Amino acid sequence: MTDCEMENSTIAIVVPCFNEQEVLPQTNAQLRALLDAMMRGGQAGEGSFILYVDDGSRDRTWALISAWCEADSHVRGLKLAGNVGHQNALLAGLDTARHDAAATVSIDADLQDDIRVIPEMVSRWADDGCDIVYGVRRKRSTDSFFKRTTAQLFYKFMTGMGVKSVYNHADFRLMSRRAVDALCQYEERNLFLRGLVPLLGYKTDQVLYDRLERQAGESKYPLSKMLSLAVDGVTSFSVKPLCLIFYLGTAFLVISLAILVYVLVSLFQGNGVQGWASLMLSIWFVGGCMLICMSIIAAYIGRIYTEGKHRPRYNIEQYLK
Ligand code: UDP
Ligand code: MG
Repeated sequence: MTDCEMENSTIAIVVPCFNEQEVLPQTNAQLRALLDAMMRGGQAGEGSFILYVDDGSRDRTWALISAWCEADSHVRGLKLAGNVGHQNALLAGLDTARHDAAATVSIDADLQDDIRVIPEMVSRWADDGCDIVYGVRRKRSTDSFFKRTTAQLFYKFMTGMGVKSVYNHADFRLMSRRAVDALCQYEERNLFLRGLVPLLGYKTDQVLYDRLERQAGESKYPLSKMLSLAVDGVTSFSVKPLCLIFYLGTAFLVISLAILVYVLVSLFQGNGVQGWASLMLSIWFVGGCMLICMSIIAAYIGRIYTEGKHRPRYNIEQYLK
């Protein structure tokens, strides 16, 4: 294999980690074994590596990562200065890895995504010329009922709101260097990678896998984080909520016309005081509606505000290689 070929098949596996000390030793053992097998089989270049991104963990995550970096030339670690969230941490990893890798594979630290399909992803890229290969879950039987239904609601909601995303795909995907380069051109702060990646264009494909149980530790995505991801997803990609204000406004105009007729009729009948009930009702009704509308506008204004600042998404504390 020439230098040039080696360079062209260098794979980086990017793993964002937030307080993952329980599962990381297992993750590293499995990913290292996989990478070794792929390097031996000539599927991955000799310079291939795993890049762990420590997203401001407060446990022993970074101690583990830095020890592996020292002992193993195929392991790298990137320590972010604080917790910036899964999406930003992943982007930090991709942005760092793209300089040394021809393709990146992003995967969660908890081994829920089946790493055995990674060689298939790589072959779709190397042999079929795909720039983006999505890992797509076949079924969700291993997820809890709550996680499954909320996640399905999330996809339905996103599609209803006009955001294009790949159904049952989280952030387990392969991206070629040029795809990552393109992704890094997107300047936005409210990151929703699953919505951004389909915007890149390029040839894409999917590989199917069964989602496994989290191997150790607990989910780092409580309901609050899932909701904020959903809000980011919708408000960063769709102006549909803004259109909803118009529909709501129209509906209330019609209702208020009906109320006007009712008020006039009761006035001519000489029992005007009786209208008090309907008046109170409509005050509350319209007031509530206006608040909802205002909150939608506020969500967008909030985002204009954060985007306008052009703050860096993350700051790197240390980069070991
Ligand atoms: N994660 C992160 N920063 C955070 C939250 C999560 O880097 O603030 C990482 C976490 O370590 C894991 C991945 O994001 O590798 C997905 O998190 P998790 O598996 O807890 O989410 P779930 O599968 O429960 O949705
Ligand atoms: Mg998980």
